[in-house]
Amino acid sequence: MKQLSRRDFLKVSGILAAGAGLSRFYADAFAAGLEKLSKGLPRIVWLQGQSCSGCSVSLMNADNPYVLEVVTELVSLVFHQTLSAATGHVAMKVVDDMAAGNEPFILVVEGSIPSTMPEACIIGGRPFSEILLPLLRKAQFVVGAGTCATYGGIPAAEGNPTGAISVMEFMRKNGLSPEQRLVNCPSCPIHPDSMVGTLAYLAGRGYPGVNKELLTPDMFFAHSTHDDCPRFHYYSKHLFAEKFGDSEGCLFKLGCLGMLSYTDCPRRQWNGGVNWCIRASAPCIGCSHPQFGKSKAFPFYRKGEQQHAVGYEEAQRKGGAS
Ligand code: SF4
Ligand code: SF4
Repeated sequence: MKQLSRRDFLKVSGILAAGAGLSRFYADAFAAGLEKLSKGLPRIVWLQGQSCSGCSVSLMNADNPYVLEVVTELVSLVFHQTLSAATGHVAMKVVDDMAAGNEPFILVVEGSIPSTMPEACIIGGRPFSEILLPLLRKAQFVVGAGTCATYGGIPAAEGNPTGAISVMEFMRKNGLSPEQRLVNCPSCPIHPDSMVGTLAYLAGRGYPGVNKELLTPDMFFAHSTHDDCPRFHYYSKHLFAEKFGDSEGCLFKLGCLGMLSYTDCPRRQWNGGVNWCIRASAPCIGCSHPQFGKSKAFPFYRKGEQQHAVGYEEAQRKGGAS
């Protein structure tokens, strides 16, 4: 595994904190955590359930070379279905050993869990849920990576036959308390910086401050996209864009869900800070919302202001978590 100097840790941590507009406190916490992760304290087990692997791809596509280095060379990633060099029985033995042993580890779960059709998701010839449960019991912390793991997401779309549920719901169904152990990092896909930052904080300082209901870490998900949006001044003056691609005007009447999305997209942006949905003149489709992809009443795109207004009831956000 690559060795980084203290200066390198501080550089990565500074980038992670600055991108989200976080204080020095967080930069120090990330640096402490990255140093521990580089020593395998704790190690990381990454499981993929009902997912498209988009969150893993997003992580691997981190444009920031330091963040990418953290994932590929620094962190002790003992198991990842797509990235592990080991295959077959050898790879599955790693998972079973982690579940049976006493070594501290953080479990990252990408994707939802098919609660009524276990055979819909098989790993190494065994149902995903059977592999997941003993790891959930043993993990020091659990991170839900992406909207499918945090809320069910697209696999949990209305009418799906698999009974897809979130990690939080699966834990509760199996008598495990998610409080103080599970951290939910939504978005479709997960932003690489919030994933690495959350892992670093858990390793460095322990359980972070979270939204009590959704268990999303405040450091990345406390502000609404709408509040920090560079087009907010148009909204406050009731100046609205009329068609997709308009470079001026608020996108509310084109179905923007920025009011219901709690992410740091306006500050951090995507693809190494190159751009993000609203700056590309496309409405926010609420990819971090608990109802994203699940409910017919919460479509990606909305035709008009009247239908659109239905989605803006704050109760929908609060009542949608599972
Ligand atoms: S474009 Fe969307 S997020 Fe931005 S101000 Fe308008 S409604 Fe809010
Ligand atoms: S702007 Fe909205 S849809 Fe785009 S990535 Fe952010 S939360 Fe998701």
